[in-house]
Amino acid sequence: MAILLPGGAGYIGSHTAVELLNKGKEIIIIDNFSNSKPEVLDKIKEITGKDFKFYEMDYLDKEKLSKVFEENKIDSVINFAGFKAVGESVQKPLEYYINNISGCLVLLETMKKYGVKKFIFSSSATVYGDPETIPITEDSKTGGTTNPYGTTKLFIEQILKDLYKADNTWDICILRYFNPVGSHESGLIGEEPQGVPNNLMPYIARVAVGTLKELSIFGNDYDTEDGTGVRDYIHVVDLAKGHVCALDKLDKEGKGLYIYNLGTGKGYSVLDMVKAFEKATGKKVPYKIAPRREGDIATCYADPKKAKEELGWEATKTLEDMCRDSWRYIEKNS
Ligand code: NAD
Ligand code: UDP
Repeated sequence: MAILLPGGAGYIGSHTAVELLNKGKEIIIIDNFSNSKPEVLDKIKEITGKDFKFYEMDYLDKEKLSKVFEENKIDSVINFAGFKAVGESVQKPLEYYINNISGCLVLLETMKKYGVKKFIFSSSATVYGDPETIPITEDSKTGGTTNPYGTTKLFIEQILKDLYKADNTWDICILRYFNPVGSHESGLIGEEPQGVPNNLMPYIARVAVGTLKELSIFGNDYDTEDGTGVRDYIHVVDLAKGHVCALDKLDKEGKGLYIYNLGTGKGYSVLDMVKAFEKATGKKVPYKIAPRREGDIATCYADPKKAKEELGWEATKTLEDMCRDSWRYIEKNS
């Protein structure tokens, strides 16, 4: 029985594909390469020494998707497909709502049609909006998202809750990622942002390699220790392993809708990240202080206790690992 990975050629999907293959699982990837490259598939094979099926297609294409379910014995689906650029989502709300929400609906409808009811969803800490208390537990209030991207995550979570309420034979796991960074230690797969990166770590790495002049730190007047924003950065390989644990839980226990934070429980500021990157790589990261970025919050980090207790999962990689592995990928691929 295979695990279907829509969006599996992307950043988090490719790392999860590696972890699943390393565990001896059968996977099938579908992707339209709207934000990834076909070469990634060979890299996954090179790292793992394992083969898998791939379909180049849009997951909104009902007919093609049905064919994938007809041609294969699919047991579960981990959905990574979707658009993820916060700023772009403000400019192109319809594209985001269609690709993320309609796509997920087509996927769930097709799963239902073929009696496949095990589903893991890539959600995000963004569903907590501006959190009232830190660290953030899974019971913390959700809502108050500040952009269409975040709202797609919130809406899909609600859709999944409604689906489970109507039919409790579904096994659903919502994983709320904090800030994924780093790359596989081989340096073969990693994050490949199109154009100028929005996220901190890829931006820092490109300044260090010389393709960007300097980092703009968005605000140093937040209510944090050094005034810059604090986030919970998690190594993408740790995050990928969280999916394997979530799948194990659904395989063994099933019958439920589960929600887990995937974070480290530690918050680092933007300046902490700059210093850690410089220390791990020996490269200088020039920066300037710029105005706050609209929609940003001061502090966001997880309470990861529930995932540890119920999934037996916890992040093990350090900030140094995250910086070193981000750098290795950039060095090898620029
Ligand atoms: P990514 O863009 O690297 O991967 C998404 C993949 O989906 C890409 O390969 C893209 O080509 C594919 N895709 C997009 N639309 C598609 C469509 N219509 N049909 C088929 N394939 C399609 O993103 P990622 O960082 O790997 O994120 C994976 C998931 O995790 C996304 O849902 C994202 O919102 C979520 N997430 C990401 C982060 C993060 O910081 N990276 C944080 C929280 C949640
Ligand atoms: N950030 C920054 N300069 C950048 C990109 C990000 O100062 O070029 C800051 C941002 O304000 C936030 C932190 O880095 O405090 C993490 O931002 P990112 O976009 O990576 O993640 P998110 O906003 O989704 O938490």
